[in-house]
Amino acid sequence: MRLADVASSPVRDLLALIDRPEVISFAGGLPAPELFDVDGWRAAFQAALSGPAARRHLQYAPTEGDPRLRECLAARTSGRGLPTRAADVLVTTGSQQGLTLVAAALLEPGATVVVDEPTYLAALQCFGMAGARIVSSPTDPEALAEVFARERPALLYLVPTFANPTGRTLDRARRAAIAELAERFGVWVVEDDPYGELRYRGDHLAPLASYSNRVVYLGSLSKIGAPGLRLGWVRTPPELRAALVVAKQAADLHTSTIDQAAAAHYLSVTDLDAHVRGLCGAYRARRDTMLGLLPQVMPGGTGWSDPDGGMFVWVRLPGAVDTAELLAVALRADVAFVPGAPFFAGEPDRATLRLSFTSCTPEQITEGMRRIGRAVL
Ligand code: PMP
Repeated sequence: MRLADVASSPVRDLLALIDRPEVISFAGGLPAPELFDVDGWRAAFQAALSGPAARRHLQYAPTEGDPRLRECLAARTSGRGLPTRAADVLVTTGSQQGLTLVAAALLEPGATVVVDEPTYLAALQCFGMAGARIVSSPTDPEALAEVFARERPALLYLVPTFANPTGRTLDRARRAAIAELAERFGVWVVEDDPYGELRYRGDHLAPLASYSNRVVYLGSLSKIGAPGLRLGWVRTPPELRAALVVAKQAADLHTSTIDQAAAAHYLSVTDLDAHVRGLCGAYRARRDTMLGLLPQVMPGGTGWSDPDGGMFVWVRLPGAVDTAELLAVALRADVAFVPGAPFFAGEPDRATLRLSFTSCTPEQITEGMRRIGRAVL
């Protein structure tokens, strides 16, 4: 069977197990539901289903996406330091579909994809399903140059800003160096950026794609709007545009017309920057609560990331611990996290785990971290 070797997502399997109200979960990378702008989205869907345009919004539509939404997404991407025209935008069903389309358009079976380690699990699945060979590499320019020269990869996949699962961000110098290497070796780079707007300290960094046309940028409304909308976009380099549109057409003809129309309305009438500032305020407090408690509850010798934004803290326990076994203990104490091993393309570091701080209140984080502390002792 073609997909026999592709593992199901342990994160999804886990989410099924922890669906008990008493469990405090730091497992899923979920936005806080109480911060969704339910009223704004209700009004947007109401508007999209009112008047003569309602019938058009229930009809088939162009593969590239709703023209008004493409304008809004291009303006938002440009505002983040990556000049983008509406014609550059391909609307996708979540940025996850952007990954699938890029894999379909760029990867011959057996092609090599280079990834950072650890990296986003569902990207590993997506490249695995495309029949790619995945090679992990550190992201410093010397290591990447050596891997590019040796492996001749088709593609480099990165989450340069507030990565999943580590929370790490590549600085300007590294972005520039990676862009230069991509051009020198003729490698396409995928910049997956669902978290870039969730910054809690420090200065905004222009996307890696602003340094080179060899970078395909993937954006998402999941973390700044709502993930249930399943709306993302690819900023398509002109050379790849036709192939990506064909891949999109073959996948699902186009993303939901009504959802796109509602999003176009929402983005034209809402101060999304103000909404994102509200999210950042709440998430910053949650991150600080979690980081403040880690030294109290974790054994000496534990290390963790100190992310400037995003949703995740990456933890490494001392000694020969297997966090998959620890998870069973934690679940008995009604707290959940994700073991780190599945995020590795190569040999996993089993003493690692990922904690998400966004979907619990500071009070829940305080109680959940106490429970984790009891589980790891
Ligand atoms: N890329 C990364 C790095 C992610 O963490 C996620 C969501 N967890 C996605 C892509 C998919 O996001 P979307 O909801 O836009 O499909």
